Amino acid sequence: MDVKVKEEYVRQALKLHQENPVVDAHLDLAGEILLRNMAGEHNVVKNYYLPYFCKAGINLVISSVYVENGNLDRAWDNALKQIDALKEDVEGLKEVLLIKNKADLDKALEENKVGIMIYMEGLDCIGEDIAKLDMLYEMGVRGASLTWSRANALATGCCKASEHRQIFGALTEAGIEAVKKMEELSMFLDVSHLNDEGFEQLCRITEKSFVATHSGSRHIHDNYRNLTDEQMEALSAQGGIMGMNGCVYIAGSFEGNHLEMLCRHIEYEVEKIGALHVGYGFDLCDSYDFAKAALSGRKPEKRYDCLLNHGQIPLLSAALLQRGMSCEDVKCIMGGNFISFFRKIL
Ligand SMILES: [Zn+2]
Repeated sequence: MDVKVKEEYVRQALKLHQENPVVDAHLDLAGEILLRNMAGEHNVVKNYYLPYFCKAGINLVISSVYVENGNLDRAWDNALKQIDALKEDVEGLKEVLLIKNKADLDKALEENKVGIMIYMEGLDCIGEDIAKLDMLYEMGVRGASLTWSRANALATGCCKASEHRQIFGALTEAGIEAVKKMEELSMFLDVSHLNDEGFEQLCRITEKSFVATHSGSRHIHDNYRNLTDEQMEALSAQGGIMGMNGCVYIAGSFEGNHLEMLCRHIEYEVEKIGALHVGYGFDLCDSYDFAKAALSGRKPEKRYDCLLNHGQIPLLSAALLQRGMSCEDVKCIMGGNFISFFRKIL
């Protein structure tokens, strides 16, 4: 059974969301825009996302640039196309601001705009060519994970997703170089999708704080995409934040008890590492999947997301309040923590 959220908590959460920073630390937005552009659609953010972003009072979305397996042979070209498509889609949208520095972020907060920051979900597109990180930075990219689950020239991820099979292996020499270069450029580092060995190695070599933009707790749902208690402790000890993943397979919500499961992850994480290290990074991807299905003539079906859309985020905050979490803690989790982190990094 899912949580039934009482009206008074929904009202309280909606007010909190309008008056305080709200962040979604992971959305495959750039890729979806490119897919929809290929199908002849434009104004993707305006038509598909903006009303929901506004309803949830979102101030910052971290848009991933994620290159699909089928595009790996032209990964650099595909990544650049995604970045261009995102920029073009939000150009002229007065409600949206691309975030490249701290002043942009402060402006988004002060003027209540939706800030969008670009980051690479996996650096397959650079191969071993670390100098390409400078080029990505120039284009406005402000963070990256070394790998999206699969193995590449920099690191091995947590699984071979197409076969649902765990994979193992440490960072390569080029991967270690990439981490150093990213820290030099003040690009944030994301450990979601990395395997346990890579995580441990990163803890030893990083000098700046890193985050897990979209990972839950492995104690609550045993999936290699989630963090163990030890990893959660290591992440928080170096000033990191973990963004709650809202994918049914990663949250482990198979019974339609989505709010219940998301709350259980968050409450466990708060109990273990404190409210200052927990955030939202929902990874909502049904809309991306619909765009992909439409392009290939498949009939799309809703499969992955615990929340219907971004407009439902306040409902999760309301559920947390109803289950007894303090207003202060909810404020930190729904955006305060990630905002502090990115203000520091930028
Ligand atoms: Zn991901």
